[in-house]
Amino acid sequence: MSQAYAIEIAGVWKVFGDKAHQAVADIRQNQVSKKEVLEKYNCVIGVADANMQINPGEVFCIMGLSGSGKSTLVRHINRLLEPTEGSVIVNGEDIMSMGPTQLRTFRNEHIAMVFQNFALMPHRSVLDNVALPLEIRGVSKNHRMEVAERTLEMVELSGWGNKYAHELSGGMQQRVGLARALAADPEILLMDEPFSALDPLIRRQLQSEFMALAANMNKTTVFITHDLDEAVRIGDRIAIMRDGMVVQTGTPEEIVMNPADDYVAEFVAGISRLKVVKAHAVMQPIDQFESQHGALGAGANEFLESAHLGDLITAAISSDEAAAIIDGTGKRIGAVTRADLLRTVIEGTETS
Ligand code: ADP
Ligand code: MG
Repeated sequence: MSQAYAIEIAGVWKVFGDKAHQAVADIRQNQVSKKEVLEKYNCVIGVADANMQINPGEVFCIMGLSGSGKSTLVRHINRLLEPTEGSVIVNGEDIMSMGPTQLRTFRNEHIAMVFQNFALMPHRSVLDNVALPLEIRGVSKNHRMEVAERTLEMVELSGWGNKYAHELSGGMQQRVGLARALAADPEILLMDEPFSALDPLIRRQLQSEFMALAANMNKTTVFITHDLDEAVRIGDRIAIMRDGMVVQTGTPEEIVMNPADDYVAEFVAGISRLKVVKAHAVMQPIDQFESQHGALGAGANEFLESAHLGDLITAAISSDEAAAIIDGTGKRIGAVTRADLLRTVIEGTETS
């Protein structure tokens, strides 16, 4: 049922060039390579047969190297680009069937975008930048200033409203970009490498602030990044793209524990498992453990199956005994020993 998804991308191809349809047909039938497509049809493959189902309220990251098709794909969600083939369903509606008025309303009220280069108007005040979507919507000046002030507070920029956008640092400008997107209170946020242009420390700080905001707002967010660390940190799920294709979709834990191919494995090799891997992935089933080691003590440390590896390790420092892993009802379903923890950490590091 497509209705249940916030965004559903089905069989989307985007090929740039006049002979795009012929190129897609040829790729389908003869597995023509990207290079051949360029030579034969003078076409560039942007996105190749992408499928994604994004749930309401989730932060969905799209990760891949530069040129892998991330921006091209995300621009289909607000129909800045139209697919060569395939469909894009948002809130149960096929956005390709929208007429101009409906599309305008959709873009003004239901979806907002944050760009890597901030895309602010430098000679407008910060408040006027944030209020812009409301101005377009015809909201009265008093009301939109009130909303803009409130939104600036959410991104910790109260007091900066009367500065010009260009007077602010990069990190602050991107907070303004985020505030502008939020001022319209859209259901869907599209963020195309919003933090990639920022220094690492500022980037991390903005990630944290965004995560805190996202936890409260419950907005469906499509967040693009070329940095798997960032994707793992903020994404509920991640789709990994290569050469226009989606090569793997999963939770950060699924991707780190089971990379689908060498390309994903290369990315994953540099990721710390401590904050990604959860207890249920490293535990031994309780029966198996107890048949080998005897019953777990009643006083063993207990962790939910969703506890992070880092927490288990912290506990293992001060206790020799295996930790008990419990499900949501408090039932003991597994055990984790120090050896289990060490093995997981070692497997996550490069040994070459
Ligand atoms: P990413 O955002 O992952 O860096 P893009 O989506 O920008 O990648 O680009 C994917 C591919 O599509 C690249 O090969 C790029 O050169 C090509 N491309 C993007 N936009 C256009 C366009 N308007 N015309 C021709 N080729 C394009
Ligand atoms: Mg891009």
